[in-house]
Amino acid sequence: MKKIAIYPGTFDPITNGHLDLVKRALRMFDEVIIAVAPSQKKQPLFTVRERLLLIKSAVRSLKKARTEAFNGLLVEYVKKRKGSAILRGLRAVSDFEYELQMAHMNRRLNTNIETVFMMPSEEYSYLTSSIIKEVVSFGGSVRGFVPDEVEVAVHEKFKIVKDILE
Ligand code: ADP
Repeated sequence: MKKIAIYPGTFDPITNGHLDLVKRALRMFDEVIIAVAPSQKKQPLFTVRERLLLIKSAVRSLKKARTEAFNGLLVEYVKKRKGSAILRGLRAVSDFEYELQMAHMNRRLNTNIETVFMMPSEEYSYLTSSIIKEVVSFGGSVRGFVPDEVEVAVHEKFKIVKDILE
């Protein structure tokens, strides 16, 4: 049976850290589905559609990775897609407490679905989507931390926001 990992997250926007994790997971799984959550509470900069388009372009060379949006309970979505594991990233100790809480809750909701944690390459250990947005909002360069199309998209988005505010 095909081993499918579901990688859920906000991906606002996708970074090279996320991609590093997808590539690592593809060595262990037959397929990785990057599952975009709306995460309205986080007030994302990009719409779900924009996030999906950026991910699609970022994973176009990875044949066994694909992306889609999901709503509602993650374990239900994983079951629907016949996923064998939830993939999450652990960067620093700061990620641990929240991730542990989520993993235990998801296990309680469905004992058949495992959560697998992976560490990105060291250079991406301190990389977050939030820091990308912050740097760009102050006019800094994020080259090397996100795919080129993402860099352009974040710059454009902040330009639009600035124009509206002026
Ligand atoms: P969420 O709102 O679910 O935290 P994110 O897009 O911020 O969504 O993160 C999705 C997953 O990717 C989380 O497991 C997070 O720890 C992981 N992640 C985020 N940034 C990185 C990175 N630089 N390297 C590895 N994993 C990461």
